[in-house]
Amino acid sequence: MRVRPVRHFIGNEFVEAQSGRTFPTLNPATNEVITEVAEGDPADVDRAVQAAWKAFHEGPWPRMRAEERARYLRRVGELILKHAEEIGFLEVLDTGMPIAQAGGSQIPRAAENFFFFAEMVPRIQGATYPKDGEFLNYTVRRPVGVAGIITPWNTPFMLETWKVAPCLAAGCTCVLKPAEWSPLSAAKLAEIIQEADLPPGVFNVVQGFGEIAGAALVAHPQVSVISFTGETRTGVEILRSAAPTLKRCSMELGGKNPTLVFADADLDRALDAAVFMGYSLNGERCTSGSRLLVERRIYETFLERFVARVQALRVGDPFDPATEVGPLIHPDHWQRVRGYVDLARAEGATVLVGGSRPESLPRGNYLQPTLIVDVQPEMRVAQEEIFGPVVVVMPFEGEEEALRIANGVRYGLAAYLWTQDVQRAHRIAQALEAGMVWVNSHNVRDLRTPFGGMKHSGMGREGGVFSFEFYCEHQTIHVALGGHTIPRMGMRI
Ligand code: NAD
Repeated sequence: MRVRPVRHFIGNEFVEAQSGRTFPTLNPATNEVITEVAEGDPADVDRAVQAAWKAFHEGPWPRMRAEERARYLRRVGELILKHAEEIGFLEVLDTGMPIAQAGGSQIPRAAENFFFFAEMVPRIQGATYPKDGEFLNYTVRRPVGVAGIITPWNTPFMLETWKVAPCLAAGCTCVLKPAEWSPLSAAKLAEIIQEADLPPGVFNVVQGFGEIAGAALVAHPQVSVISFTGETRTGVEILRSAAPTLKRCSMELGGKNPTLVFADADLDRALDAAVFMGYSLNGERCTSGSRLLVERRIYETFLERFVARVQALRVGDPFDPATEVGPLIHPDHWQRVRGYVDLARAEGATVLVGGSRPESLPRGNYLQPTLIVDVQPEMRVAQEEIFGPVVVVMPFEGEEEALRIANGVRYGLAAYLWTQDVQRAHRIAQALEAGMVWVNSHNVRDLRTPFGGMKHSGMGREGGVFSFEFYCEHQTIHVALGGHTIPRMGMRI
C-alpha cells in the first residue's frame, strides 16, 4: 500500500505547511522513507488555533445538545472500527509495534475511548450548595476553550484518542501535535473526523517537530490548556513555556515501574504478566514493568523461568502476526536504548539475555529482548527510563526492602504487585509511590479511573470524570433568594 504524503488538518481541510517544507517519516523495520510530512511552524500553528478558536467561540460544538455531541463521538468510534485494518497498518508501518498488539488491543481501545466519552457527555455535572434559605449557590462546568494536545510516538493512535475524545466530549476544540516520528495515524484520525462530519475547526492537526510546532502551541495565547504525554524532561520544558500565558497543563510523563513478586504469589501468572509488561509494545511503554523485583527465596527459580521466556520471544517483522517484539521506533532511539546495555556493563551489572541486534535482522532498528541482572538499585540502569525491551531484575528480602527499592526512584507511574496474602496486598499497594497499582494483574485499564503518575511521572489525572476536571472550568453562580442584608455605603449625604 502506498502512503500518501501527510498534511496538516485545519478547519476540516488537509493543507500543506505554509512554508512548503516537509520532513520524512521512516519505516522502523527498514529505515526507508515511508512518505513526506508537512513540517509545521508557528504560522501553521496559529492558523490551526484560529480555526479552533472560531469553532469554539462561534461554532455549534460547545453549544450543541449533549446527546448530539455524544452522537458525533460514537460515529468517530464506529469509523475507527470500520477503518481498523488501515489504522493498524499505518501504526505498525510507522512505529514497528507488532501487528498482533496493534490490532489486538490498541485500535479497539482507541474506538473505546470515543464510545466511553460519548457516554460521559451527559454526565458532566455541577453541584448545588443551598444556604440558609437565602441563597442558592451552584456550579456549572464549562468547556475551557481551545486545547493543545501533544503526544508521543509509542502508541500514537491510542494516546491521541485518549486525549481527543474527552476534550471534544467536554465541548472544547483542539489542535493536536503528534510526535514527529509517528505522524501517520493522526492523519488518519483527521480523515475519520472529516468523514464523521464534525463542524470545521473542532479538531485540527499540525504535524512537525516538538521544539518548533509543539513549542508554538504551548506558547500560543489563545490556547487555554495543554494536555501532554511524553518524557519528563519535555514536560518540565513545557511547564516552563506555558507559565507566561498561565496555561493549565496535564502531564503524563515517564516511568520506571516495579513489578514485585513475592514468594507466595501465583508464580505462573506472575511470570506471564512480567514477560508481557516487560516486552509488549517493544518495551516502549510508559507503564512497562521495567524493574522486576523478586523475593530472594524464589529469585533463582523465577529468574530461570523468566530467562527461558525472554529467550523464546519472537523478534521480527512487525507485520508478521507471530511477532512478539518488533523494531524500535528510530535509529536514534535504538542507539539510546543500546547505550544502556553498555552502561549496564560499565556499572558492573550482567547482561544475561540479549543486548545486541539479532543476527538474522541486519536492517531496521531491531534489538534482542534484553535482561540485566546483578543490578544495584542506585545504578542508572535501575533508575532511568530506558523505554525499550530491557528489564532489570533485582532480588529483595521482605516487604521493607521491596518497598525501599520500588519507591527509590524519581518516577511513580505504575506498579505491579504479586502476592496471595490479601493483607500484604493492600498494605504494600498503599505504600507504593505509584499513581496506579495493579495487584495480581498486568495492566488492565478501567477508563472510569484516574490515570496518571506521582512524583516525576506526571501532574494531574485523566480518565472518567477526571478528564473533565481538566477540560472544563467550574463556574460558581450565587443566586440570592430574597432580601438578605447588603451593607450600605455612601449614606451620609
Ligand atoms: P518526547 O517528550 O520526546 O515527545 C513527546 C511530544 O512532545 C512529541 O510530540 C514532541 O514533538 C513534543 N515536544 C518535544 N519537545 C517539545 C517542546 N519543547 N515543546 C512542545 N512539545 C515538544 O517523548 P517521546 O520520546 O515521544 O515519548 C516517550 C516518552 O513518553 C517516554 O518518557 C514515556 O514514558 C512517555 N509516555 C508517557 C505516558 C503516560 O501516560 N504517562 C504514555 C506514553 C508515553
